Amino acid sequence: MFATELSVITKMYTLPAEYDVIVVGSGHAGIEAALAASRIGCRTLMLTQNLDTIGQMSCNPAIGGPAKGHIVREIDAMGGAMGLNADATGIQFRMLNRAKGPSVRAPRAQCDKKAYQFRMKAILEQTENLDLKQATVSEVLVDSGIAVGVDTDLGVRIARRSVIVTSGTFLRGLLHVGESSKRGGRMADASSTLSTSLLQLGFEVGRFKTGTPCRLDARSVDFPQCQIQRGDDPPPPFAFYHDAIGISSCNEIFTLNHYRDGKFHVEQLPCWITHTTLRTHEIIRANLHRSPLYGGRIKGTGPRYCPSIEDKIVKFSDKTSHQLFLEPEGRHTSEYYVNGISTSLPYDVQLEFLRSIPALERAEIMRPGYAVEYDYLPPHQLSPTLETKLVSGLYLAGQVNGTSGYEEAAAQGLIAGANAALKVQGRSPLVLDKGEAYIGVLIDDLVNKGTDEHYRMFTSRAENRLFLRHDNADQRLTPRAFSSGLITHTRWASFRKKIDLLDQARQMATGTKLRGTPISQLFKRPDFGVKDLPAGTFSSVPTAVWELIETDFKYEGYAARQSEQNRRLESRHQQAIPDGLDYNNITGLRFETRQKLATARPTSLGQVARISGITPADILIISIWLSKSNLTGRPSAQREADCMDLQCSRARL
Ligand SMILES: Cc1cc2nc3c(=O)[nH]c(=O)nc-3n(C[C@H](O)[C@H](O)[C@H](O)COP(=O)(O)OP(=O)(O)OC[C@H]3O[C@@H](n4cnc5c(N)ncnc54)[C@H](O)[C@@H]3O)c2cc1C
Repeated sequence: MFATELSVITKMYTLPAEYDVIVVGSGHAGIEAALAASRIGCRTLMLTQNLDTIGQMSCNPAIGGPAKGHIVREIDAMGGAMGLNADATGIQFRMLNRAKGPSVRAPRAQCDKKAYQFRMKAILEQTENLDLKQATVSEVLVDSGIAVGVDTDLGVRIARRSVIVTSGTFLRGLLHVGESSKRGGRMADASSTLSTSLLQLGFEVGRFKTGTPCRLDARSVDFPQCQIQRGDDPPPPFAFYHDAIGISSCNEIFTLNHYRDGKFHVEQLPCWITHTTLRTHEIIRANLHRSPLYGGRIKGTGPRYCPSIEDKIVKFSDKTSHQLFLEPEGRHTSEYYVNGISTSLPYDVQLEFLRSIPALERAEIMRPGYAVEYDYLPPHQLSPTLETKLVSGLYLAGQVNGTSGYEEAAAQGLIAGANAALKVQGRSPLVLDKGEAYIGVLIDDLVNKGTDEHYRMFTSRAENRLFLRHDNADQRLTPRAFSSGLITHTRWASFRKKIDLLDQARQMATGTKLRGTPISQLFKRPDFGVKDLPAGTFSSVPTAVWELIETDFKYEGYAARQSEQNRRLESRHQQAIPDGLDYNNITGLRFETRQKLATARPTSLGQVARISGITPADILIISIWLSKSNLTGRPSAQREADCMDLQCSRARL
């Protein structure tokens, strides 16, 4: 069904220019891959099916959120474009989890979809060492186990020294709306047969499914019936150096926001909240037989953490209502994204159930919701540089590796692009450790555990989450990025200045006493903060620097404790798990964890740790349960220490 049809190419045209790196795809992974490779100094070519859809947000018009916001700041700390582009084109900014500990606070921005795309295209077009061409890659060329180039479906052959495939949801993509199914990478975009070439090379290929909700015409929504949700004032940006936004005189036509007089200026738009009703649920239930998901036509595994509305109604049948967010898709469009009702039900059912929701009684659909099934390549086939183990010089990044989300894709793109370029230059690879970055956790999980369902980042996946704060991403990663050539000398100089200020403030905090107690000790108290510093001390460095120092001191005890706890847990990986253990008896374990353990039946804690989707917090809970249930024979003092560990990690998250 998916074989290349109609065309028989008799003669290939070989593009005269030789590139160091070819990037296939211009989604979030492709963008960061191409930018990273060209920043490092490699001649790079980005090939994409459609130059008009560069950086398209296929689903919700937002970047960031818990753990994802951390990733965006890490990308920014390494010179990537996602954070700054979201700052320049955002229409609502919020810091999530403000009331919780600093490690789980995360920035999120609603973006103007079109401005985001077009500004990103302008950035790519202005990047030195980078060419862009519209082309559909039909084959990856391999000679003696080494990638040597690509062929396009128009008969063009391009030689290179590395190829990075970032094909997202496009490989043998199949779109579903009710009883109708057709090929496509996403609605209105062609699918790609490239996975056939990858299969022939010997790669294992799996099948996933994801979905998106309908977009409504704002003129048909009765907003006064909804609860309003505004952005934060002042708006929290992603980029560590966002003060250049809107300043440059040329090529800023897609930039909506600007930085002036020490302030980030955004004309923010609100989002709106409404809820499904019992009637909505009845309509959906009555039409499940027309759903491709429940009718059995969709075979691919769906996303656990972003289920369709039909899935939510079936799986959480006791819930009488689900919260929905109406999110603007941009400043100059009336399209609204309905966050929370991803669906592939038929068009008439979508319209009927929508109109049973308060504020949407007269709703008009501009684009219907749909599901897409596509091929992905299980990521255990990759090394930590994201190079495939099978073909040297071939890298994979983004949704093609089984992940879900723009941020996860962009992070992999950056690492694959950097490593492809570093390999071409014969330099050491860039591999981030899971203890130093969420990007490290992401790639470590993917390549070591693989994934049999969409992988999405959560703070709970990180062992070192108290240390991996969004606000210290530059301190953790900018030096690594600079030594790989991902950061300019100008930016490095600004970063060094910040580090000098941090050192100065840290010394002041440890060397200055207030009423006989060093400021560093006072910072550990919950009731002492930057605002309590004496005026002279306070004004000696910028407030933002003091805030970082305060957080460091407040949480250093917890972070040290977490490291110790991780070390202890690691040493218990030999701990045996009794045969036939019923995981339902262990309180605190997530449903996903119970499900996976019941299937895998691990015999030791070490084996538990290697199961995809099992988090460090899960392992801790199991270890404590085993010791509390006297199944380990360890002394009671140890058991008490375990319980304190658990309390500590819960208190901070
Ligand atoms: C319907 C739908 C619903 C989604 N829902 C969610 C969600 O709820 N939550 C979430 O986090 N994520 C969701 N996503 C996923 C999100 O869009 C992706 O995670 C993200 O876009 C992945 O980025 P990427 O760069 O890997 O791929 P994409 O953004 O998909 O980009 C792929 C790029 O590759 C190009 N391409 C593909 N094949 C070829 C070829 N052979 N030759 C040249 N170019 C090629 C395409 O043109 C495109 O530019 C959804 C996606 C879709 C389509």
